[in-house]
Amino acid sequence: MRFKDKTVLITGASSGIGETTAKAFAREGAHVFLVARRKDRGEQVAEEIRSNGGTAFFHQADMSDRSQIKTMVEACVAQFSGLDIAFNNAGISGAFNVETHLHPEDAWDDLLAINLTGVWMSMRYEIPEMLKRGKGAVINMASMAGVKGFPGSSGYAASKFGVVGITKAAGLEYAAQGVRVNCVCPAVIRSEMAEEIFLQTEDSSAQADSWHPIGRIGEPEEVASVVLWLASDESSFVVAEAIQIDGGLGA
Ligand code: NAD
Repeated sequence: MRFKDKTVLITGASSGIGETTAKAFAREGAHVFLVARRKDRGEQVAEEIRSNGGTAFFHQADMSDRSQIKTMVEACVAQFSGLDIAFNNAGISGAFNVETHLHPEDAWDDLLAINLTGVWMSMRYEIPEMLKRGKGAVINMASMAGVKGFPGSSGYAASKFGVVGITKAAGLEYAAQGVRVNCVCPAVIRSEMAEEIFLQTEDSSAQADSWHPIGRIGEPEEVASVVLWLASDESSFVVAEAIQIDGGLGA
């Protein structure tokens, strides 16, 4: 019960890594504030957590809408009287396997709005709540595509390299005030997003497995455990880091 009665806000909590992480926090006693666009899916995850004895509340918001991000943090604070931990995880894959000169402009705008500006705006409202308490942990979702080049994904790369950059800046700004900001950089992790891009056929799945020296793609639980560690006091000296969770791919 590392997070007993701590409030955790998680964006993109209706599926994949966000859903798995929300459930892991709830199992360890956290009050989980789940955020996503898809109301039915989000409510379903919150209900599942509650039926297992946890505390969870779903709030619908779109990370491409700045006013909704402000309202999201206000609603979390109203619901659970403050904020201790934030996992800014919501994201899209956008245009993949497309060369830079062919990248669609609208896909570029969406990637930056959701994956990067969404994370910045989330921190903009989350961090003041943590500073009020003199303590907090922010974990942002970057990607291995935010630390290493992969052809065909320049919009996604721009957004995720950006997340690593703002994590490092913010991590340094607030460390002395008790708020630690870090990010995670997963390689391919089984989720709806990965299914769409990498895991459509047996051949493409085998190829995705082969990219990772460990011989397989990752599971959402393997990201959740690192996120929980970064949120806990066990990582109290870890600041402004971009932690690779990659089965050796980036080594
Ligand atoms: P997923 O598609 O299952 O989850 C994405 C989540 O983000 C969903 O809950 C979705 O509803 C939410 N979301 C998307 N756009 C949103 C918006 N505008 N507003 C609010 N919520 C929105 O996929 P996932 O793999 O779990 O992705 C989670 C994060 O992990 C993403 O940021 C993704 O870039 C990152 N990531 C994934 C992988 C991977 O291989 N799966 C690898 C590295 C990083």
